[in-house]
Amino acid sequence: MQILVTGGLGFIGSHTVVELIQSGYEPIIVDDLSNSEIFILERIEQITGKKVKFYPYDVTESENIKKIFNENKEIEACIHFAAKKAVGESMEIPLEYYRVNLLSLLTLLDEMKNYGIKNLVFSSSATVYGQPEKLPVNEDSPLQPALSSYGSTKQMAEDILEKVSATGWLNALALRYFNPVGAHKSSLIGELPKGIPSNLMPFITQTAIGIREKLTVFGGDYPTPDGTCVRDYIHVVDLAKAHVKACEYLKQKKQNFSYEVFNIGTGQGYSVLEIIKTFEKVNQQSVAYKIGDRRKGDIESIYASCEKANDILGWKAEETLDDMVVDAWNWEKKYRSERK
Ligand code: NAD
Repeated sequence: MQILVTGGLGFIGSHTVVELIQSGYEPIIVDDLSNSEIFILERIEQITGKKVKFYPYDVTESENIKKIFNENKEIEACIHFAAKKAVGESMEIPLEYYRVNLLSLLTLLDEMKNYGIKNLVFSSSATVYGQPEKLPVNEDSPLQPALSSYGSTKQMAEDILEKVSATGWLNALALRYFNPVGAHKSSLIGELPKGIPSNLMPFITQTAIGIREKLTVFGGDYPTPDGTCVRDYIHVVDLAKAHVKACEYLKQKKQNFSYEVFNIGTGQGYSVLEIIKTFEKVNQQSVAYKIGDRRKGDIESIYASCEKANDILGWKAEETLDDMVVDAWNWEKKYRSERK
């Protein structure tokens, strides 16, 4: 089964391509390299021992999608990762976020319809929940008004998928990712943030390796056990495997057009300080940090109920927090040593 993977050289996309290949699928990658590096393609091939077809195209342009679908008649599903993803930046250049994140989805859907491709897995995010009233959060929990333009694009995208699938030609799954961290065990692929990382784990690893002087923990006075924010961190390889399960589910379900949402997390909340302490203990590596002011737009606490994904997709996260911090650190060290 051929699967088009948009954004397939990015952090989550590259790990998913590896898992797809290792499960017998034939992924085809389209990525405009706006937030990724071409060497990741060679690394994917190194890990899997397979050549991967790659198109360096922008997926907001329909001509590009048409060309891919014309040249690859066996594509049966698309996994749509390609998007801009920095919450803070999305408040500075909202138009660009709406343009890329929504136009890419609309263009892909238009051409999927034209070419009779019915199956889509979409990258949504836990940000759609805002600060839930009850934890853990499940798929029926009410969504809160988005605080960022990024979050708004994910809510709008889910809405689009629900309405379009209701017309009867589309089978769409929206996976609401919690906080993906870690890297492939080979340390050949991992997260590659451009500039100053806005996520915790790459900031920790960059501080530990000496690129950043000090990590600022945003807020130490939240009503959580140690005062810092709580999140549901998930190993990126577990997250990648959820996409394989999603594809299997879509494959078996060809006749029944629908839209479904799944939380993809571990069900376990960890505070920022717990992550730093675990990183230090497991890797025997100190991280300079200080407690700073709260960051605008951050919620205090969220973690997932993943029962629906467990029951329906037959998927469950397996990697521990120790695995996550070890793999993230090994990737950072290997990547930096090669750049010297
Ligand atoms: P990433 O930036 O590493 O990967 C996205 C990839 O898409 C990049 O390789 C980029 O070059 C490519 N891309 C962007 N715009 C494109 C375009 N117009 N045409 C073709 N390619 C384009 O991000 P990621 O962390 O792998 O995230 C993947 C998806 O998951 C995104 O939709 C993101 O919003 C979502 N998500 C990410 C997180 C997270 O914390 N990483 C959490 C929740 C949801």
